Amino acid sequence: MRLRETASLSPAHRPPRAAVIGGGAAGMAAAWFLTQAGLSVRLFEAKQHLGGRLGSFFDEPSNREIDRCQHLALGCCSKLLTFFDRLGLRRHWRRQREIYFAASPGRIWRFRASPLLPPPLHLLPGFLRLTFLSLPDRLAILRAMFRLRNTAEEGTVKAWLVRQGQSPAAIRMFWEPVLLSALSDSLDQASLAAARKVVVEGLMQSRRGFELHLPRLSLRRFWDGETAERLQAAGVQICRAAPVDALTPSASGWLLRLSNGATEPFDAVVSAVPWRACVRLLERSGQPLAAVMPACSAASPQPGEIIGLHLWFDRPGFALPNAALLKTHSQWVFRPDDEPVDSAGRDGKRSAPSVPEWYCQVVISAAHAMPLPPNADLPAAAARELGDVFPALKGARLVRWRVVREREAVYCPRPDWEARRPPQKTPLPRLALAGDWTATGWPGTMEGAVRSGLSAAEAILADLRAGS
Ligand SMILES: Cc1cc2nc3c(=O)[nH]c(=O)nc-3n(C[C@H](O)[C@H](O)[C@H](O)COP(=O)(O)OP(=O)(O)OC[C@H]3O[C@@H](n4cnc5c(N)ncnc54)[C@H](O)[C@@H]3O)c2cc1C
Repeated sequence: MRLRETASLSPAHRPPRAAVIGGGAAGMAAAWFLTQAGLSVRLFEAKQHLGGRLGSFFDEPSNREIDRCQHLALGCCSKLLTFFDRLGLRRHWRRQREIYFAASPGRIWRFRASPLLPPPLHLLPGFLRLTFLSLPDRLAILRAMFRLRNTAEEGTVKAWLVRQGQSPAAIRMFWEPVLLSALSDSLDQASLAAARKVVVEGLMQSRRGFELHLPRLSLRRFWDGETAERLQAAGVQICRAAPVDALTPSASGWLLRLSNGATEPFDAVVSAVPWRACVRLLERSGQPLAAVMPACSAASPQPGEIIGLHLWFDRPGFALPNAALLKTHSQWVFRPDDEPVDSAGRDGKRSAPSVPEWYCQVVISAAHAMPLPPNADLPAAAARELGDVFPALKGARLVRWRVVREREAVYCPRPDWEARRPPQKTPLPRLALAGDWTATGWPGTMEGAVRSGLSAAEAILADLRAGS
């Protein structure tokens, strides 16, 4: 993380007061960076919990907290991982040095870096071992990756892959598993630039870029618990259940109006709410969208849907911690670590469910663009697919399930939207934007959110230094 230490601003009388609106990853990162720079920071979150889309639910029968949807970060998520380091929280993320591909019937491929070859050749032996692809396909994929690194072409991913002579099998069994979950959009529509970011930074630039980082704590405990505690210890004042209604310019900066009618003056404001909430906030504030985001018309970006299918079987299914599934609607499957740190329930005890059960979670990204069965049939369809891939689950009984559909999980990185994503610095003095939807160069991810928080904080600090 550039995270360049911003020399503390030392005003004559009091530190500047900054408000951060929105307590997701972007807002929490912005609040932390501003407080590190010596500002007095208040973070306003509409809900009772911090974390935004990084949330969990409590599952009564198993007496444990489960993430609404499994999240992972890649090793190339440099700002995010450095943010965790700076907060002293990296130990809550498990680094996984292999990616597993799984296909029917019970076939597993392990994809890992060579310790001997330097990037970008470090994954070459791993690629050559992906024998679910024909040798010509493996070679064509490698060729395309090197071309992708150097091309300045624009447009959509699929059109470019087809131009590069990628076969349907290479697209279905390599490009889709790698890119769908990262972009959460169909390759027919997603921008080539976004794919280039993931492929180059994830697979080519550094030895560890492709590695997976998975939370050891539930997302709620990590963000609403540990991260919030570190922020508070650093001096951030956290206001939960405190939706901000409007912000109006004032002589000294901005006046915030909360939904309970209270108003509070600030020298600077970071809005770190999602796109739709930001548009509403500006409307209520009487600020024309064009004044804050000149390049951004009111046309909304396309939301990308992600489904988390929580499945409980009557028997254990597989020993892998997770796997990318080939030739199935289910794209990834995860099971919690053997001894999860947060295995204790609300009462601190781990109670056994009355019927023995085994849990895993299937994730389907870009669900808005997938030919999926109806909602009610999804769990059984996924269970059948898992039974085909993992023989131990063949004929297993699905004891219970829960379907979590996040229809606005992220915004699709379509070429037109990518060109319109607004920067964090706005034309209005001491007002900055953050959120995974702002221009970060990254798809909507935790990495993008943290990057946006850092850039928003830097924009505010630059304005304060310039006295604007
Ligand atoms: C199902 C799913 C799976 C995902 N998988 C991954 C993954 O594996 N890896 C990854 O990196 N990313 C993943 N993402 C994306 C990631 O969760 C987001 O990019 C990131 O959490 C966005 O953070 P944010 O702070 O920009 O926005 P949000 O998390 O949406 O936070 C915005 C906050 O603002 C608050 N707010 C809104 N209006 C107001 C108001 N008026 N006043 C005060 N507060 C307000 C909201 O309550 C919310 O807490 C996934 C997302 C989903 C939904």
